[in-house]
Order: sequence, then structure tokens, then C-alpha cells
Amino acid sequence: MRVVIFILLLSLSTGSFASGNDWNYQNEGPDVWSDSYPLCAARLQSPIDIKTACTKYLSYKPFQFTEDYSMVHNFTLQNNGHTIVGTWNASYSASLKLVGGDLNGSFDFVSFHLHWGENYRSGSEHQVNGNKYAGEIHFIYMNPKTHQVAVLGIFMESVRNLTINETVEKTARSPSYTIDEWKRYFDVAQYLKKPDNTTNLSLNLSSLMGDSLNDFWRYEGSLTTPPCTEGIIWTIFREPIVFTESELESFRTNVYFEDYRDPQPFNTTEMPIELFIFVTTALVVPHAVFGELWNYGDLGPDVWSDTYPLCASRSQSPINIKTACTTFQPFLPFKFSSSYSKTNNFTLQNNGHTIVGQYFGNDTASFNLTGGALNGTFRFVNFHLHWGENYKSGSEHQVNGKKYAGEIHFVHRNPDTGQIAVLGMFMESVRNFTIHETIEKAAKVSVTTVNEWKRYFDVAEQLTQYENKTVLNLNLVSLMGDSLSDFWRYAGSLTTPPCTEGIIWTMFRDPIIFTESELASFRTNVYFEDYRGPQPLYDRIVYRSFENETLSTIPEYNCCSGASKIPLELLPCIAMKFLLLLFSHVSK
Ligand SMILES: [Zn+2]
Ligand SMILES: [Zn+2]
Repeated sequence: MRVVIFILLLSLSTGSFASGNDWNYQNEGPDVWSDSYPLCAARLQSPIDIKTACTKYLSYKPFQFTEDYSMVHNFTLQNNGHTIVGTWNASYSASLKLVGGDLNGSFDFVSFHLHWGENYRSGSEHQVNGNKYAGEIHFIYMNPKTHQVAVLGIFMESVRNLTINETVEKTARSPSYTIDEWKRYFDVAQYLKKPDNTTNLSLNLSSLMGDSLNDFWRYEGSLTTPPCTEGIIWTIFREPIVFTESELESFRTNVYFEDYRDPQPFNTTEMPIELFIFVTTALVVPHAVFGELWNYGDLGPDVWSDTYPLCASRSQSPINIKTACTTFQPFLPFKFSSSYSKTNNFTLQNNGHTIVGQYFGNDTASFNLTGGALNGTFRFVNFHLHWGENYKSGSEHQVNGKKYAGEIHFVHRNPDTGQIAVLGMFMESVRNFTIHETIEKAAKVSVTTVNEWKRYFDVAEQLTQYENKTVLNLNLVSLMGDSLSDFWRYAGSLTTPPCTEGIIWTMFRDPIIFTESELASFRTNVYFEDYRGPQPLYDRIVYRSFENETLSTIPEYNCCSGASKIPLELLPCIAMKFLLLLFSHVSK
């Protein structure tokens, strides 16, 4: 095991994850890493969302760095296909060692690299109370005797995220030599646009790290990239380093990849560490940009609220449905007027964000939906899909942290009140199943539904360009399938700008099953990543229409707070509180 870690670190330190394309941040992205790297689905993964209220104070010895830190050394900066790796030119015999911080023994500096995102509000891997920073710097260390790996992580903050007062206050905390040293770094690193591009630069590590190294969070996690090796000691410093937006922007524009993993569930039980080592790399295709005010890339969900303030409001959709925290309430069944079960013509149009299906005929008023505790009679407006970069992502809502391969929205509106109600269905790829599950789940989806969606996909996958459209006859009841009795209900918003609130959401529990090839065509032909991630629930209640609910196997998701006052099971929540004691928060 130690040998293996050593090989891993060697590859980190040379910055040469050799070519291959079995992982990236897109079609072979974080959600499917575990297909090739089983450890990525293990229980002590990084990054995490640091919930500050749940951290525990512990007193740590300060970090101590050897004197050579404050001297200038030669570094090699190399684009390894995932990030820019900075390694110290070790032929120069200096000593870059780290002790203290309650680490076990003396650690050698190995390399440093950055994670950044598609805009100034995303890019960090760790989050603090759900807040993302504009990026994250990782300084990697290894104890040469034990081969233990420790990572020091520092958040990168864009001044664009700060008010003028905050800017004055925070930049005062970032010493000018730190700002200058990073400027020198960015001036050079932004030109390393292609994998294997390499350059040399003299840098001062101490300046790069800044001097706010007293307050940090500590936990045990994993590498945030495949093979996701666990047993890594993480130190995340509380104070970010502040950057001008232009420096970060050059990185995004020139060396563009979205190279960060989202927070992983924080689990209790330790699993024995097994290691799987593979060597890899891949290039990443930038997002499509439509020249509009919003998209899912550089003008993505994290910055929608700049232009559409409602997107930062308190009743937003989608959400992660924590099944343990839902409240049972009986609902009358939905009733659909006869037009739903007839075959009608629909226009399917690529609107630059998704494919929208609208009724193409004279009798719009004949599509009436009642029941399901909706107020009054609702009319069908359109249906559209959300999908993702691979078969384990694409749904907007999640259930206990699980993403589905996609999500279908049937949008309805009450013409009298203007209220909008969306019926949402999860799309599941059979690739997510074992053979037994496939047989069992496929039995729940009628042949009619499978065939209707096949007809849809055969046509819709050809609408590859903005404004492409066609007309297709479809039967809405067939598309919806017949598992419409079990659902979750809550009050939310549109999941796209302007993020209007007051939307009644119904998410059906049983997904519709698709063959992977149908979904794969969509991804390949009509490629965009068109889904928003879950938003905070705040004090909203999620109701369920069925009595017996299953709990998540991940304790974090069984921990309810806020208005979801009737958790199905209190025990997991209490276990969670104990687990959170593992966190430690040092403040001076
Ligand atoms: Zn990293
Ligand atoms: Zn939608």
C-alpha cells in the first residue's frame, strides 16, 4: 500500500499523469469516476462542505516551515491535462519541510496546484456552509517515512465577490508580497494552455501561502481526483487569499477547464483502505456559450443571481430530497383530461438551453390537470428535459444525494391564478443497474412509455442547433408513464432564470427507465450540461404522498433540520451529531 501511494505521489510530483482519457470533469466526470476507480465511491471522500456550526474546537500546534520556504526556488509549472502542477526543481538541494499542525512527523513538499471554475463564484472544491469560493490551492506534502499524505488547502476569493468595504478589509489581510507572487504566477501559468505545456518560474512558497495560517479546519479525507485514495490529512485554512478578478479570468479563458469536484457526503464509519492505481489524463471541451444572459457555463447557476436576483432567494429549486425529513400527507390522485391520452402534434424546439415540447394545435384549453392538492385547474404549457454529461448526472433534484441521469419537467399553469405547477420525473439509465434491478425496474415501466420516449429521442436528438425545430405526434400519458401515485411535494422556483418562486413542485418517486444509448445520443448530439444543482431548503417542508419511506444509508442525509420537524428516524441524526465531533475548528 505504501509503495502504491509512493507511485501516486511520484506521478503528482512529476505532474505527468500520462495520457489516457478515463477521467475528466465532463463526460467522464466526478459522478462516474467510481466506475473505473471504486475508491471514489468510498466513505471518506473529499472535498466536503464544512458546516461551521458542526465543527469542534481543538487546540493545534502551529505549522512550522523550514527556512528555505522564505527563499526563492526554481519551480516547474506543467499543464497535466487537469490542472497546472507546480513542482520544485529538486536538483537544488534545499529543504522544504513542514512540521507542526499536529501532523505525525516531518512532511516534504511535493507539489502545488489550483482548482478553479467556470465563473467567479465557483471553482473551490471545499465549501463553507454551502459557499463556494472562486478557486482552491492545494499544497501537497508527504511524510517520507510513513508515506502519509497531507494537503494544505487555501481558498481563492475573487474581489468581484466582495463589497468595497470587504475588499478593503480583506486585501489588507493578504500581504502585498502574496498578491505580487501570485500575479507573477498567473502571468506565466495562463499561457500553459495545452497538456504537457511546461515552463520554469522562480517562486517563493512562503509568499504564495500568505500568512493567515493559524485558523484552519482539519479532517481526514481523500484525494479529490482519481484514484481518490483515502487516508489523506486535510487542512483547510479559514482565510482565503484575495485575487483580482482579471487574474482568475485569464485562467478561465486561456487554460479553461472546470476542474473541481463537488462536496462528498461526510460519513461516519471508516472503511479499510484498498488502493487502485491507474494512470490517466484527458482534455476537456469548454461549455457551449449562447451569447445570452445566462447559461450553464461561464454565466452558470452560481452567478445567475448577478442578473436575476431571485435566483439567490430562499425558496429555490431544485432541492436534494432527504427522504428521512419528508412529512406524509395524503393527496387526491392527479386527474388528466382526455387530451392527455390522445396523440397530438407537438413542436420540439432547441431553445439554446434544452429541447422544449409544446402542443401544436388549436385546442390548448383541452389539456386540463386537476387533483394532487393543486388549487384549481391547470393547463399544460410545455415539457422539456434536463440531462448531464454522463449517465450518473443530469437530474436537477436529488434524492438523498443521488443524482439521476436526467429529469423531465411537465410545466402547467393555472390560467385563473397564474400559478405554475411542475410535474417532474426522474430519468434513469439502465447502465446504473445490475441485471436484477434492470429486470425488476423495467417491469415497472410500460412498453408504451418506453416506445413513446424512443420515438421522442429518435427525433429530438437531431435538433442539435439553437432554434432547430420539428413537429412530432406524441401521447402525453404515454410519456408520463403510470407510476403517478407516489410523489414528493414542496414549494419552489423555476430552475432557470429568472428563478421565479411560488412554483408547486411534484417530483414522482419512480423514475422512467431509458436505455443508455438513447441518453448517450442526446449528450453527444445536443450536448449541453443543462441542470442546476440543489439549492438550500431553508425552512420549507417537503411532503410525501406515500406512507412508508426508506432512509438513506448515508447518515448525513438522515439528519433533519429547520421546518422538517418530523424526521422518520431520529437515531441517525443523533449519530450524525457525534460524527461531527470528528471535525475540528481551530480559532487561534
Ligand atoms: Zn487538488
Ligand atoms: Zn426544467
